[in-house]
Amino acid sequence: MPKKTALVTGGTRGIGRAISERLVRDGFAVAANFAGNEQAAAACASEIGCKVYKFDVGDYDACAAGVAQIQAELGPIDILVNNAGITRDAVLHRMTREQWDEVIRVDLTSAFNLCRLTIDGMRERGFGRVINISSINGQKGQIGQVNYSAAKAGLIGFTKALAQESAKKGITVNVVCPGYIDTEMVAAVPEKVLEGIIAGIPVGRLGRAEEIAACVAFLASDDAAFMTGATLTANGAQYIAG
Ligand code: NDP
Repeated sequence: MPKKTALVTGGTRGIGRAISERLVRDGFAVAANFAGNEQAAAACASEIGCKVYKFDVGDYDACAAGVAQIQAELGPIDILVNNAGITRDAVLHRMTREQWDEVIRVDLTSAFNLCRLTIDGMRERGFGRVINISSINGQKGQIGQVNYSAAKAGLIGFTKALAQESAKKGITVNVVCPGYIDTEMVAAVPEKVLEGIIAGIPVGRLGRAEEIAACVAFLASDDAAFMTGATLTANGAQYIAG
């Protein structure tokens, strides 16, 4: 049987790279997307054995070209992992419109772009797996992140709506909310702040990218066929959503 194709946005670094690696191991043909870090992308391609594709997930036309290229080279996209994300932190009274717009564009509009471009094919084939990567801060809010918290909370609502629209077509749509994970995004947090964050995680450590990849692997698998519209939380008990 030919391999199913998975597109992992932001799939060349951090959590995304761990997801790409895991999905390759689970037998998928993986297209790992990235924005501009060619070195990380080349390392990812050679070390993991996936193909890498550079396009801006916040730009609809660039996504259309990227999806067309992936489908021509690897076949129809059956698994879509909307993982790419950025932060542009500032408290609201200091936040610029650019900081707001950029985070909404890359972290939320990207999910519309890529779902819109792949959903018709999934509906026609009667199979699909959409997995959105949100954040603990989309569930509980975070000082300095009204843009990021809004985008990540938006992904949760997006997931619930699209899951209902797609359920009869064999497409599941779920969202994973990681807590603080040991990646470059978190390494950029000042040391004192990070110490405070870890003190607030009952498990007593940061999460590992592989632990989020395992959640995604489950949601991508045939075993998860009855799970749709769900919010899967992996945060070491830092925030327990009702
Ligand atoms: P990283 O900063 O380590 O990696 C980000 C990845 O996204 C890179 O591959 C980057 O490409 C890509 N990317 C960024 N902007 C774009 C864009 N406009 N178009 C295409 N690709 C883009 O992020 P993390 O691994 O830390 O985070 C991954 C996801 O998990 C994000 O959505 C984040 O919000 C979420 N998350 C992370 C947590 C954490 O603790 N790290 C906690 C909760 C959620 P390039 O290498 O070219 O720059």
